[in-house]
Amino acid sequence: MKQAAGEKKSQPMVRYRGISKSFGNLQVLNEIDLDIAPAEKVAVIGPSGSGKTTLGRMLVTLEKPTAGTIEVNGELLWHKIVNGKPMPADEKHLHRVRGNVGMVFQQFNLFPHMSILRNVMEAPVHVLGVSKKEAKEQAVAMLDKVGLGQKLDNYPRQLSGGQQQRVAIARALVMCPKVMVFDEVTSALDPELVGEVLTVLKDIAAEGKMTMLLITHEMAFASEVADRVIFMDGKIVEQGPPEQLFGNPQNPRTKTFLSRFRR
Ligand code: ADP
Ligand code: MG
Repeated sequence: MKQAAGEKKSQPMVRYRGISKSFGNLQVLNEIDLDIAPAEKVAVIGPSGSGKTTLGRMLVTLEKPTAGTIEVNGELLWHKIVNGKPMPADEKHLHRVRGNVGMVFQQFNLFPHMSILRNVMEAPVHVLGVSKKEAKEQAVAMLDKVGLGQKLDNYPRQLSGGQQQRVAIARALVMCPKVMVFDEVTSALDPELVGEVLTVLKDIAAEGKMTMLLITHEMAFASEVADRVIFMDGKIVEQGPPEQLFGNPQNPRTKTFLSRFRR
């Protein structure tokens, strides 16, 4: 995150406070405190089952925290302040606030019966109420940006996995979220298709303004793109700039985890 010298430090774009999550008796996340600054790129790494996806899903309101609060752009996500106290938010509030956040998943889940152009136009038209004409212009521009401007009329099954994932990224971006969660977006891809998707993510990161939470196993990518890397295992075990976390990890669990990625 390149912040101009003398620029005023603004409030965090994302603020997790005391966030815990259990599924039945299984406590997955334990009192997470995490601030993400506007435009910051945070990579989250950790073993399978360590709660990374759950952390991301709570930010897009797909999963409700068991305890704690989350703020996005200064607004509580799951709560409304009533008489100075956080009360559970209603659907209207959730609908509005979740517009600030987008997520791309490992499985891209495009609509199979729609062209990729329609896949990208669908939510702006039906969720945001954008006119079809305007939604089409935005979708074409966004598909162009992810290198698929020549494929507008193709159906998902006619595209490679890497191309489909780029459509999924365009579909999320066209909603103009302030924060994007990318959850292992290359994990389902054949190795030779990983690069083209990471390149798109690097381009989005390089534009600078998007706040990004990148859940990934691609350590070289995390190193290159992230301002900060978090190693989690039910809680934040260790965090720091990539050169520190990868180059000189302090916690024994971080060291053990990272040693598996070195040859
Ligand atoms: P990660 O993304 O780090 O692999 P997850 O957040 O997906 O971890 O999952 C953390 C733990 O929570 C796992 O043990 C997983 O099985 C469990 N879990 C996740 N979602 C659910 C759910 N909807 N119901 C029950 N258990 C879940
Ligand atoms: Mg996961």
